[in-house]
Amino acid sequence: MEFHGEGTLTPEQEEEIGVLMRRKRCQFLSFWLFCGKSACRRTRSCAFDTDFCLAQVGPSVPEDVRNAVDEMVCAQLLGKSFEEMMAESRDIVLPYGKWLEKVRKIEAKGRADLSAS
Ligand SMILES: [Zn+2]
Repeated sequence: MEFHGEGTLTPEQEEEIGVLMRRKRCQFLSFWLFCGKSACRRTRSCAFDTDFCLAQVGPSVPEDVRNAVDEMVCAQLLGKSFEEMMAESRDIVLPYGKWLEKVRKIEAKGRADLSAS
C-alpha cells in the first residue's frame, strides 16, 4: 500500500487515516500516562478521545520528538519494518529515545508529572 499525497483519498478515508494516526501518536508517546483521563490510564492507551489527549499533552512534546513519531507512524502505516525505517530515517527517529526515557522515569515514579525532568 502506498500513499500518493493528498487528493487521492475520499474525505472518509482521510478522516479514517487521521484518526488512526492520532491514535498511533498517542500510543507511541504513551499519552495515557500524561493526559489525566482515567479511562486512558485504566486501559494504558488513549481510549477516550485522541483529539482531547493530543490537545492536552501535545504542546509538551518537543518538535524533534513529534517529527520522530510522525515518521514512525508513517512507516508503520506503509508497512515498513523497524529495520527499514531505521535505515531510511535514523536521524529523524532517534529523538524518540529521549521521550521514552522520560516515560520510563515517570512510570518508575508511578505518577504523571510532565514538569519533572
Ligand atoms: Zn488520553
